[in-house]
Amino acid sequence: MTTKRVINFGAGPAKLPEEVMEQVQRELLSYKNTGISVMEMSHRSADFTAIIEGAQKLLQELLKIPKNYKILFMQGGGTGLFAAVALNLMSRTGTADYIVTGSWSAKAAKEASKYGKVNLVIPKTEQYLNIPEPSSWKLDPNASYVYYCDNETVHGVEFPYVADTKGVPLVADMSSNFLTRPIDVSKFGVIFAGAQKNIGPAGVTLVIVREDLIGKALPVCPLIFDFNVLAKDNSVHNTPPTFPIFVVGKVLEWVHRNGGAAGMAELSRVKSTLLYKALDSSGGFYNCPVQGPFRSRTNVPFRIGKGDEALEKEFLAGASSMNMLQLKGHRSVGGIRASLYNAIRVDEVEALVAYMESFQKQHGK
Ligand SMILES: *Cc1c(COP(=O)(O)O)cnc(C)c1O
Repeated sequence: MTTKRVINFGAGPAKLPEEVMEQVQRELLSYKNTGISVMEMSHRSADFTAIIEGAQKLLQELLKIPKNYKILFMQGGGTGLFAAVALNLMSRTGTADYIVTGSWSAKAAKEASKYGKVNLVIPKTEQYLNIPEPSSWKLDPNASYVYYCDNETVHGVEFPYVADTKGVPLVADMSSNFLTRPIDVSKFGVIFAGAQKNIGPAGVTLVIVREDLIGKALPVCPLIFDFNVLAKDNSVHNTPPTFPIFVVGKVLEWVHRNGGAAGMAELSRVKSTLLYKALDSSGGFYNCPVQGPFRSRTNVPFRIGKGDEALEKEFLAGASSMNMLQLKGHRSVGGIRASLYNAIRVDEVEALVAYMESFQKQHGK
């Protein structure tokens, strides 16, 4: 019997490459002929040490991470890092700058305000449709760090550049666009990403942190959130999420086989261009509210007309009957959202675009 698979446009936990899933399945009961599963293996065993070190080495290669950075595998998800970032970095001056461009950075700013003074760099808005000009930002030269979300998963707003913070450490939440393009890691103090959007199963968060920012946690910082504790014990101070780390390693190998970060960027460009072209050439039948240069390559929110909920419901039901799933927009914004993470193939986006065209023919004017 062949396994049923659908096209999964979910925002996270999201699709993983079929090839990786099959590999994991083959190794599930007996890892490298050990007779046990990775799930059943000590996190201090030689086999698991090789798994975690192999994943770190590969990630370092894929993103050309300089030697003065540590790669940590943490728990608590992206949300855990909202607290961990403040707990580890706020001690320098007690204040931090937050560039809020969507609901995830808004949540991060709120969490950080428990541990220090948060300065909002750009004016508050209800709608997140663009990123204001950097010349208008009110950066505080005394900030411990500048925080932003590189890709806002709910609102579909992505930074087309890396901000210049005039030497203040830059912290980026890359949960939903991690490893979708090459980045110059040396411009960052901390980069973090929950794995479940692009690089693995839920349960592990990747953290890349510059060494000089380690060892300065506030006294109230829980042990398991202290970058210093994790760095010293190479992420096995306590039991890490061993199985998710194993799968992340497999996904990194897949990225490596498929052209690395540059290969993913090209794939991402092709897929997102296909979808945005379809939206923009629909004569207003479909509408993406996000302004051109800030449109996300990985999360594409759109509406039918100006938000025709009945027609959107019909669109989603029709998509689902064609095995295209998880296209519903986030509950806070409604509408439709297609997430185009690394594992989504070009032919899957083509299938969505073909469906969109036929749906419009049926209902459009
Ligand atoms: C999903 C997401 C988060 C939250 O991740 P959790 O693991 O659910 O805590 C944070 N930031 C971004 C950009 C996300 O997409």
